[in-house]
Amino acid sequence: MPVNTIAYQHIVKELANTKTCLVAVSKTKPNEDLMELYHLGQRDFGENYVKELVDKSAALPKDIRWHFIGHLQSNKVKFIAPFVHLIHGVDSLKLLQEINKQAIKNNRVIDCLLQIHIAEEESKFGLDERELEEIITQIDQLFNVRICGLMGMASFSEDQMKVRNEFKYLNSLFTKNTSWILEHSEKEPVLSMGMSGDYAMAIEEGSKMVRIGSLLFGARNYTN
Ligand SMILES: *Cc1c(COP(=O)(O)O)cnc(C)c1O
Repeated sequence: MPVNTIAYQHIVKELANTKTCLVAVSKTKPNEDLMELYHLGQRDFGENYVKELVDKSAALPKDIRWHFIGHLQSNKVKFIAPFVHLIHGVDSLKLLQEINKQAIKNNRVIDCLLQIHIAEEESKFGLDERELEEIITQIDQLFNVRICGLMGMASFSEDQMKVRNEFKYLNSLFTKNTSWILEHSEKEPVLSMGMSGDYAMAIEEGSKMVRIGSLLFGARNYTN
């Protein structure tokens, strides 16, 4: 399926007005597809699988900012630690400690977002409010990770009100936490929410970073 460059240009224009960052989610897509958007100016790409991310980062231009948006296993952090730009899905202290350890080994600070569980589906990962508060008390000892904000995935649901309420809830947690995030990261705090099907609503509800895949690259085929 061809890359939808028309949708891309449209989304870029839309986001420019709202100061929202676009992460082009390129999982399962070939390098040529990423390069098509690269030539149009896209530099932020998101991947879900460690091996695929490592392979793509080796093959593609060095000025691409690679976002890891999938569920990251502790034993795989070492593979992406040398180059990853932002890890979106941090959902445990253990993972954060491992990222810190690998960041030290690579003599860098790794930017992370804490993933909050906002969807109804059990299968989705993330922290609840109490776990978030607990992690916050521990981060001051982790000098090589920088918590830059929060991330969440809404339910896959036709019920717009429900999806909107999940975004509202995440934004309320974000608002509660912006002051320490700003103090800790010394950067504009990031709220990563919104995908192909719900990004417009996510922006209305305060998103600062949307992760869009199928709208740009077409539907994914996981069987090949
Ligand atoms: C795959 C994925 C996306 C992109 O989904 P689309 O619906 O294709 O835009 C966004 N965020 C995460 C965490 C993903 O795994």
